[in-house]
Order: sequence, then structure tokens, then C-alpha cells
Amino acid sequence: MTIPSGKAVTYLGTYGSWYKVSYGGKTGYVSSQYVKVSTTTTPTTSTGTGRTIVIDAGHGGNDPGAVYGSTYEKVIAFDIAARLASTLSNTYGYNARMTRTNDVYLSLAQRVELTKSYKGSAFVSLHANSSTNTSYHGHEVLVPTGESYTTNPYISASRSLGASINRELGARIPTIRNRGVKYQNVYVVGKNSVPSTLVEYGFISNANDRSHLTSTTYRQRMADATASGIHQFMSTYK
Ligand SMILES: [Zn+2]
Repeated sequence: MTIPSGKAVTYLGTYGSWYKVSYGGKTGYVSSQYVKVSTTTTPTTSTGTGRTIVIDAGHGGNDPGAVYGSTYEKVIAFDIAARLASTLSNTYGYNARMTRTNDVYLSLAQRVELTKSYKGSAFVSLHANSSTNTSYHGHEVLVPTGESYTTNPYISASRSLGASINRELGARIPTIRNRGVKYQNVYVVGKNSVPSTLVEYGFISNANDRSHLTSTTYRQRMADATASGIHQFMSTYK
């Protein structure tokens, strides 16, 4: 058969000066002098371009965080963090680094230090809330205040990052109340040196929130909403 000039064929192998190719459902050999070889790049939908996002699972080791019965904040935070890291790297192409990759204790200062040594472009800390008042419920994000406590030079970018995550969580998980964006002095946010926010995914002391926080389906949804919020922020932040 004849292959018209300029048509693309699929390269299957080299045999001497011949290429084995497939074209139009047929397989055969063409002289290599008539074929221009080009490499195809897999089209990518990700624009993460390898920038590093530091994912901080709150608490760990002998610091369980909030505890309600057999529900531990450190376990919930770690599970969402691992899902988030996976979505960020697999779906968006970021280099996701976790401050802790198992159940160990890290000081707040260590978490901030790790952001530096990982050369992170953004930092997100993952937590669950708790209260003695079991009617308190909802998710929220904490962003830096303008008070002198904040030494993070990225106050406004941190607020954008937090707002972006909060918007995605609100849109994707409407069955948890959205408590919004809170300005609060939090060490890992205020003392960090990159755009930073802390997410409280819900109250483990509240029955409705707890049913979400202990569900792997909802943890995945929380991770995906957070990843989308991070990505929307990063797309506008150079
Ligand atoms: Zn916490």
C-alpha cells in the first residue's frame, strides 16, 4: 500500500534501514529515509509544574490532638493529608511533601523549618476541631492576622489561599456548615515564610461533622476540594 505524504504513522520498531509502522489499521515496513521521527508528548492537564506544596498533618505521636471516644484528630488529619498529597501530585503535577509521613510528634517550629528545607511554595496544615459544646459544627480555614505576631511576609497571599480552599470545601461538601475564613494567630501560619493556611475540616465532637470525618468517602472529598483550592490559588500565584 501507499501512505500519502505528510501522514503520521505509529512507530513499532527499527529493522536495518526499515521502520516497522502501523497505519490505517495495517502493519508494515517503510524505508526509514521517508519517515521523519518525532516524539509525542502526552498532553497534560496539570499546571503544577513541579512546584512544592507542603502538607502538614496536624499533631502526631504522643500528641493526639482532639479526641472523641475512639476518634483521634491526628489520625483523621493524617489520612486526609495523605489523600491530598496524592491528588496534588497525581492530578495536578505538584511536588507534594508531607511534614510527617507517619505517626510521629513534630514541634510547630519543626513544621515551619521543614517548609523551608523542602523549598515549599505554599503550606497547608490539616486539623479537625473539637468543643465541649457538641452543637458547635462546621469547617473553617485560619489565615494570618495583621498583628505583630505575624512575621509571615505573605499575609494577603495566605488569605487568598485560605479563601480558595474554603470556597471549594463549601461548594463540594454542602452537608458541613461553612464557618468561613478566620483571622487567627496560629504558629504554623503566622510564623511561616510562604503563603500558609490551616484547615479545620469539622468538629469531631459534633455528630454530623464526625460522620463525615470518619468516612473515607468524605475524607477523599475533603482532600479533593483542598487540592482544587490550592491549585486555583497556585494558578494565580507566581
Ligand atoms: Zn489540631
